[in-house]
Amino acid sequence: MSFALLGLIDALLRNLQALKYQTPTPVQTKAIPAVLGGKDVMAAAQTGTGKTAGFALPLLQRLVQSGPPVASNRVRVLVLVPTRELAEQVLQSFVEYGQGLDVRLMTAYGGVSINPQMMKLRKGVDVLVATPGRLLDLHRQNAVRFDQVQTLVLDEADRMLDLGFSRELDAVFAALPAQRQTLLFSATFTDDIRTMAASILRSPVNISVSQPNATASKIKQWVVTVDKKDKPELFLHLVAENKWDHALVFVKTREGVEYLAAMMEREGYAVDTIHGDKPQPARLRALERFKSGNVRLLVATDVAARGLDIDDLPLVINVDLPIVAQDYVHRIGRTGRAGASGVAVSLVCADEAPQLAAIEALIQQTLPREEEPGFEAEHRVPQTSATRQIIKKPKKPKKPKVLQAASGAAVPGQKPRQQGAGNKRNANGRVAAAGKGTGSSRAKPSATQKPGGKPAGKPGSGPRKPVGKGRSAPGKRPA
Ligand code: ADP
Ligand code: MG
Repeated sequence: MSFALLGLIDALLRNLQALKYQTPTPVQTKAIPAVLGGKDVMAAAQTGTGKTAGFALPLLQRLVQSGPPVASNRVRVLVLVPTRELAEQVLQSFVEYGQGLDVRLMTAYGGVSINPQMMKLRKGVDVLVATPGRLLDLHRQNAVRFDQVQTLVLDEADRMLDLGFSRELDAVFAALPAQRQTLLFSATFTDDIRTMAASILRSPVNISVSQPNATASKIKQWVVTVDKKDKPELFLHLVAENKWDHALVFVKTREGVEYLAAMMEREGYAVDTIHGDKPQPARLRALERFKSGNVRLLVATDVAARGLDIDDLPLVINVDLPIVAQDYVHRIGRTGRAGASGVAVSLVCADEAPQLAAIEALIQQTLPREEEPGFEAEHRVPQTSATRQIIKKPKKPKKPKVLQAASGAAVPGQKPRQQGAGNKRNANGRVAAAGKGTGSSRAKPSATQKPGGKPAGKPGSGPRKPVGKGRSAPGKRPA
């Protein structure tokens, strides 16, 4: 299959050649003709399989081939994304794929001044890539009108349609012309989201090019079990020991991100952070520095989990597991992109067994486990499996009691805790854990205090080994 056979025009084919895209990926092969044909599309394909070009190429073509030129304060193609960083990246893709075409492209997101965005909209834009909140602000101020919108794209559609965004999205949907093309792209879709999606699509072409919710097969994944309080210290130890020198690191909370980054900085690592409390220019700068290699460890919340395409990123480390299982697929999908290989390591403590079980059920794999000598968990992480079971709840060794047990705790034969128990939905409808993130445990890094613990190697000492291969004995990996 070639891009030419998919019906793309020469100008686009030349750009693809310049980008060294030789053959369309499976999702592109299916999506491009459907989008060119004006159909609604719901496409599920693994992370890193080129979904952006799957909608950007045919939409650019439709823009240059059809329709009246865009009027002032109007938009022809509206792309909604969950994060500001992703907005910039998707715009960049439109710029690259659309070199030499006469199209006006722009982004609009919050955290930066609205005035330049209003100015730019005055002439009208062909493609607007936006986050929903800022888009609505612009709409309320009449800086953007939707009557010329011919296509709506929801990238990371499941995230866009989940409860956290639904109120804003409903307001956008209500303002859009009913006659339009709607495209949904994501790597993960829950059944609820599919149902919800069906209500905004008209006889859609359903594209599913891999097992739903699958992770790229070239990503090697494992789990290191550890006590919650020891996570920061274990992280530091693993980074030093394995000479992991280029990694995206996920932590559950903003405070946890800052705590871990400060610790690594003190140890002499080139670190930066991305999370919701940071000013937008600093967020974008951190990502740029990480992409250019000036920063080797980027520590982030799930704001960096979706869609970001970082060339040759070898490693993703989850210092905390995500609350929502789908986010695991997205996080680790930052590595192993476009057919490359990658490594994803998750530090898991006993509290996180329900999340681990949910992740394993989602990806249909039981993740191999490891323990790091000196960091063995005192609170054992219950066994889990891809059948979504927590096989055994850990029981604290009990001293024989003379008195009769007064409470119902630890009744023999008691059912293991349900997945998600103890989690609450917050005001956004996103599930939030009852517990706190890593940083809140405020464990002091103290490698030397560990009985039998290996002292953490000096950062940067010793010969450099490629990430993922630097682990001492490959045979050590559990089967
Ligand atoms: P997704 O949205 O599916 O996660 P992206 O659209 O971000 O994936 O693309 C992932 C990477 O693959 C990008 O670096 C992109 O440049 C590259 N890519 C996309 N399509 C092709 C192709 N047909 N041939 C080669 N590389 C491609
Ligand atoms: Mg994407």
